[in-house]
Amino acid sequence: MKDFFQKALTFFIPHRCLLCREEVLSAESLCGACWPKLSYISSPQCDCCGFPFDFEVEQGSLCAACIQKKPPFTKARSALFYSEASKTLILRFKHGDGTELAPVFAKWLVRAGRDLISESDFIVPVPLHWSRLLKRRYNQAALLGKALSHLSGIPFLPLGLKRYEKTPSQGVLSARQRFKNVKNVFRVSKSYQKKLIGKRVLLVDDVYTSGATVYHASKVLIKAGADAVYVLTVARVQGPSRL
Ligand SMILES: [Zn+2]
Ligand SMILES: [Zn+2]
Repeated sequence: MKDFFQKALTFFIPHRCLLCREEVLSAESLCGACWPKLSYISSPQCDCCGFPFDFEVEQGSLCAACIQKKPPFTKARSALFYSEASKTLILRFKHGDGTELAPVFAKWLVRAGRDLISESDFIVPVPLHWSRLLKRRYNQAALLGKALSHLSGIPFLPLGLKRYEKTPSQGVLSARQRFKNVKNVFRVSKSYQKKLIGKRVLLVDDVYTSGATVYHASKVLIKAGADAVYVLTVARVQGPSRL
């Protein structure tokens, strides 16, 4: 019966390509022309930060940035390269009320981070400052975390981390400025301090740019007693890692 209604609904409201809005056969998908525009990140990549290598490496190899300074998180993975196409989707999700993309992104996160998810005890989103939350009305990382929790069954702690200072938007800053910009802005919420001790946390965000945000957020979680932090983002800016 449910099937019948779904088919009937599809008849009246056709599915649309996530990117160009052309009619497509199945829900939450892309048309044949748009599909190749999204580039998925796959191995070989840095075992720690997920930086993609364009040559084969031994399993467990690290990129130059992680060898120089080991990040506080154990592993970071992203589903897609930050390209024109993925940027369009993410900006719609973030600023354009495209909240229906959360479950689609969550499926991509599962594909990119299956191992990280299976290691994690809790999902925590990168928080927004309350003033930005008020303006935007929702935290895109929290929507992702919630959808991922729904898919994976891993408990979701939407307020596990708090952001205490309003930082200038990261968009226009250099990697070094980004790094300083988010230093000391995160804290573990008092009510979750005991809960996170000895646990493995999956930190979720939309984009990994310089890695500065997740670097500091992970540092705070580890300092608060978390056993390990894993990072999962929808997209990653191609190019050398942080700092
Ligand atoms: Zn399309
Ligand atoms: Zn690395």
